[in-house]
Formats: sequence, C-alpha cells, structure tokens
Amino acid sequence: MEKKELVIIGGGPAGLSAGIYASRAEVETVLLERGVPGGLVMSTHFIENYPGFGEGIGGPELMIEMDKQARRFGLEILSKSVDSIGVTDKGIIVKTSSGDINAGAVIIATGVSHQLLGVKGEAQFTGRGVSYCATCDGAFFRGKSVAVVGGGDAAVEEANFLTRFADKVYIIHRRDELRATKIVQKKAFENPKIDFVWSSVVEEIQGTDTVNTLIVKNVRSNERKPLSVEGAFIYVGNKPNSDLVKDIVNLDQNGFIITDENMMTSSKGIYAAGDVRQKFLRQVVTAVADGAIAAVAAGKYLEEQKASI
Ligand code: NAP
Repeated sequence: MEKKELVIIGGGPAGLSAGIYASRAEVETVLLERGVPGGLVMSTHFIENYPGFGEGIGGPELMIEMDKQARRFGLEILSKSVDSIGVTDKGIIVKTSSGDINAGAVIIATGVSHQLLGVKGEAQFTGRGVSYCATCDGAFFRGKSVAVVGGGDAAVEEANFLTRFADKVYIIHRRDELRATKIVQKKAFENPKIDFVWSSVVEEIQGTDTVNTLIVKNVRSNERKPLSVEGAFIYVGNKPNSDLVKDIVNLDQNGFIITDENMMTSSKGIYAAGDVRQKFLRQVVTAVADGAIAAVAAGKYLEEQKASI
C-alpha cells in the first residue's frame, strides 16, 4: 500500500493552503480532489473582500493562482475520490477510487455542498432553468426574468451578478430582512433590475420543457401567487461534506466537524480545515488560515510521532 506522511482531502482554498504550507515544510504530502481543484470558489464570479486584491479578483482566477502556487512548491495533486477513511494501529487508511494510502496524518478540507430547496419541480428542472451557479449559467438568461432564492451573501451577490444578463431578477426571501453583508445588500437595493419578494417561499417550480413559473407563498398572509420566470437560482445555504468521517470524529448537530484551535479533530492525526469545520465565519480568508494552521499542526504531530518511535 502506498504510504504518505500527510493526505489532504479536498482542493478548495483550505486544502490548497494546507498543501502550500505542508510542501514548504517538506512534509511528504498528497492532495486528493474528486473534481477540479478550487472548490466552490470556482463558481463565485467575483470576490471583493479577499485581502491583497484592491480591485477584487475573480473566484476562478484566485483559485488557479493558489493551485499554481501549491504545485510550485511540489505539492502532488491527484484526481481521486475518497471512498472511506479508517483509523488503524498501523496508521490512517484512506481508501480511494484507485488504491489505498496509508497516511500518518489527514486533513479533511472537503468543504460544503449547496443545500437543495427541496420543492416539487426542483430536481426535474435542474439544468433546465434551475441552477446553483450563476457564474456558470447566468449567460443563458440574457434578456430574461429570473429568480434567486435566499437572502445570504451568495444569493444577493449572485443576484447582482445576474443583472448583467437578465432584464429582471427577483430575490425571493423567507424573511423581510436580508442576511447578506450590508455592502452587498446596498448594491442590490440600488440596482433597478432587482425586485424583492419578501417574506415568501417557493412552493413549486413549474414548466414544460424548461422553467416558466414559480409558485410563491407569502408566509405572513399564506397567499399563493405564480411568478413568471425562466430561471431559478437556488442559494439557500450549504451542508458540510463530512460523511467520510462521521463515524470517526465528533460532529456538531448540523454535521460540521468540531476541532480545537489547531484544527485537530477528536481523532488523533485527523485535522479539519475550511467550511467543513464548525466555525464562526466561512470565508476564503478563514479557509486559507485554517489550512495553514492544520498543515503546521499536522507537521508537528508527525514529528512527535517519529520522535516517539
Ligand atoms: P447562508 O449565509 O447560510 O444564507 C442562506 C440563506 O438562505 C439565508 O438567507 C436563509 O434564510 C435562506 N434559506 C435557508 N434555507 C431556506 C429555505 N429552505 N427556503 C428559503 N430560504 C432559505 O448561505 P450562503 O449565502 O450560501 O453563504 C454561506 C457562507 O459563505 C456564509 O458564511 C457567507 O457569508 C459566505 N459567503 C460569503 C461571500 C462573500 O463574503 N463574498 C459570498 C458567498 C458566501 P434566513 O436568513 O431566514 O436564515
């Protein structure tokens, strides 16, 4: 079985940052990523608050640079999906789609996935009007009306972005106040192409071949109304990708991995970094910080293990 000192699972900002720090410390490391490195940031059109980029930077551009930087320091990045992780007395066994790896330490940087809305028509029309990625699909809605569901940073930022293409963007939010950061809200309030549908939830997504109507219920009056749109972008939060370790580390009630301040989980040698971790603020800036801490802590742990042999 292949042996590595450190296996990083996930190639988003946390995983790549961990890879940069581990490679520079000459810890023998492999990063496993099931898709394209970059994580959810790859589908974020523009990032305005990542320090060091005065004019902002595109999500994909930032992640391509991080990937390049990690490879420059010799990080091995493999396109592999991890099936399971087991803790044995001979080390941590990472079972992948193509072979197993015996690891001295593991960093879980598997991030989060988009939460589904869970209404009738959502699955049927995914890819035919229902989307979870404005950056990927926005251009298909040039001159059309679309809805964005949600009131957080992702919903409101992507609604602003969609006004480049769509003639009208409805933000449908279940409360009468947005959760998004004030500066993001302000931009949306000032955008003449954005209309707000407050205190409302989508009950059903309808169409023929593609989406043409949302059934929207006002949660105060219980009144239901059809809303004519050709696209529905769902941004109702995220769920942690923590299934791989659910039986070996402690999770909180929402499935996020609990760590100490050195990113160590309840299982020795297993660290977690980025959005998959229980934390106060989920941003690229906190994900890269987590990754750096996890890599340095894992390196120290590996040294201690070696010294104790
Ligand atoms: P979020 O902050 O959790 O917001 C989710 C939104 O969806 C909330 O407004 C929530 O309503 C609403 N919602 C949840 N379940 C719903 C349901 N079943 N039906 C209708 N609405 C529902 O998620 P996010 O916007 O994806 O952001 C995730 C994290 O990434 C956050 O920490 C955010 O700050 C960060 N992020 C940051 C940026 C940035 O700073 N540039 C960009 C994107 C994301 P309530 O408000 O009523 O709970």
